[in-house]
Amino acid sequence: MTRQLLLLALLAAAPAAWSAQPCAVEIHGTDQMTFDKAAISVPKACTAFTVTLSHPGAMPKNVMGHNWVLSTQADMQGVLDDGQKAGEAQDYLKPGDTRVIAHTRLIGGGEQDSVTFDTQQLKAATPYSFYCSFPFHSTLMKGTLTLGS
Ligand code: ZN
Repeated sequence: MTRQLLLLALLAAAPAAWSAQPCAVEIHGTDQMTFDKAAISVPKACTAFTVTLSHPGAMPKNVMGHNWVLSTQADMQGVLDDGQKAGEAQDYLKPGDTRVIAHTRLIGGGEQDSVTFDTQQLKAATPYSFYCSFPFHSTLMKGTLTLGS
């Protein structure tokens, strides 16, 4: 590649690099019952946001299953209580629970799942929580989600 072509290639690539703020995030749920993120900020410019949950562990989902569930902080306990009653067959979520803004399916070690949601459902002043709804995991596996600037 000549010097001039290299320069053109760099210029062409630049705008993509500047438009930073990706409308997606990846989070890991581990065999140690942890998420590797405690906070997620959704850029205001994103109309949709994608969360990809990966489980890098080796334990099966009936023992160390994880999902990623989003609701308001106020709705979290209700979603968890009803999810526990719903059981593993329903991924520990009450079917059709309208308090749930977004969720992945329940996964075990070596699996991955993504969910994309409309950010217009989020309000800047409302505190949101994300968590795993597998019974008792949310003690450790939880975090906050905010609509950024
Ligand atoms: Zn879990």
